[in-house]
Amino acid sequence: MAQTPPSPQQTTAPALPAGADCLMQTYLRSPLVLVSGHGARVQDQTGRSYLDFVGGVAVNLLGHCHPHVVEAVRAQAGQLLHVSNLYYNDPQLRLAQELVRHSFADQVFFCNSGAEAVEAAIKLARKWAKQHRPIHDSEQDHEILAMAGSFHGRTMGALSATGQPKLQKGFEPLLPGFRHVPYDDLDVVAKAITPLTAAVIVEPIQGENGVCIPHPGYLTGLRRLCTEHNVLLIFDEVQTGMGRTGRLFAYQHEEAAPDIMTLAKGLGGGLPIGAMLATRRVAESFTPGSHASTFGGNPLVCSAALATLEVIHSEGLLPLCHEMGDYLLGKLQVLRSRRSNISSEVRGKGLLVGIELLTAGRPIMEACLAEGLLINVTAERVLRLMPPLIVTRHEIDEAVAILDRVLSTADA
Ligand SMILES: *Cc1c(COP(=O)(O)O)cnc(C)c1O
Repeated sequence: MAQTPPSPQQTTAPALPAGADCLMQTYLRSPLVLVSGHGARVQDQTGRSYLDFVGGVAVNLLGHCHPHVVEAVRAQAGQLLHVSNLYYNDPQLRLAQELVRHSFADQVFFCNSGAEAVEAAIKLARKWAKQHRPIHDSEQDHEILAMAGSFHGRTMGALSATGQPKLQKGFEPLLPGFRHVPYDDLDVVAKAITPLTAAVIVEPIQGENGVCIPHPGYLTGLRRLCTEHNVLLIFDEVQTGMGRTGRLFAYQHEEAAPDIMTLAKGLGGGLPIGAMLATRRVAESFTPGSHASTFGGNPLVCSAALATLEVIHSEGLLPLCHEMGDYLLGKLQVLRSRRSNISSEVRGKGLLVGIELLTAGRPIMEACLAEGLLINVTAERVLRLMPPLIVTRHEIDEAVAILDRVLSTADA
């Protein structure tokens, strides 16, 4: 094979930071060490600043270090960090009340991540089905219908629910009891529901699959089917929840309330917390001993989540998210029409936006990083933008200008 000289990119690529070698190689990381952040910007160890449109993958809902969240965490850290769920703690009680007040749900189970919230949802759905949809053939078990292309997390149960064989490969045997059907197709769900079906689990928008938005009426259609057949409807709102799409929960765009909902990512405004919410009639299938989490609903993370919810409401971030999302989408539509030989579609709801390219997304993402803009790539060819809900028009203009420059170079 001919020796090719190293490309300029390879020779100037920064060395990996000390310690990188001690981390398991589970991520394709950019070689930045981020050390501080404020609002929509982060700084690396060299002092270089970046406009952050990754936002910790939809976690940093209020940007970096929102003063109200920082203050709440500081105050709570000085008062009580952790107590066991053998007792109550005030931030957990208050957060549960707030989530119940703002959603379809009557009760909440707290955990620490999205995958854990999905695990809790799977367990609750199975327990409920055993009590409410008994199977009279001892050879058979309940199953949960999930969607092709979905993402529900990396633990074995959540991974088995996930509809992406490439993520499952090498980790078999998977958990039995899941069947995948195409996304955004009500007819296949209608045909797939049987007496064995316990629940249908679905993302209101498939985030990891490239920001795939189903047709209007899909969620209400699922609600109708599940009610008709007495099957549970589970919405995985780990990515779409907490205002990301312009409503507190994405299901509220269609008024199609689920029986169970999972939350994580943006919930703690940057701290790790997950939650599984349900109506009382379903939640009652869990009794003392059914499920648990040592850290779940710890006072520190709950105080951060409470502060985040307070800011979402006090700063009017839901209408703002809607407005800024439309502004960003509008600017990207214009950009797409001018760069139509590289970008085929732009789609989004609120501040969850995808730009589908005709080529691989990673080189574009790297070129944006070099220009001071952090964005993310999903499904190989989709640039995903998840700026914080406090993003300004000026920051959106700046990000779109960088994207335009990068795409015009790639286009040339
Ligand atoms: C990110 C994500 C998860 C997994 O969350 P983790 O906190 O990484 O375990 C589950 N479901 C959806 C829809 C997600 O976007």
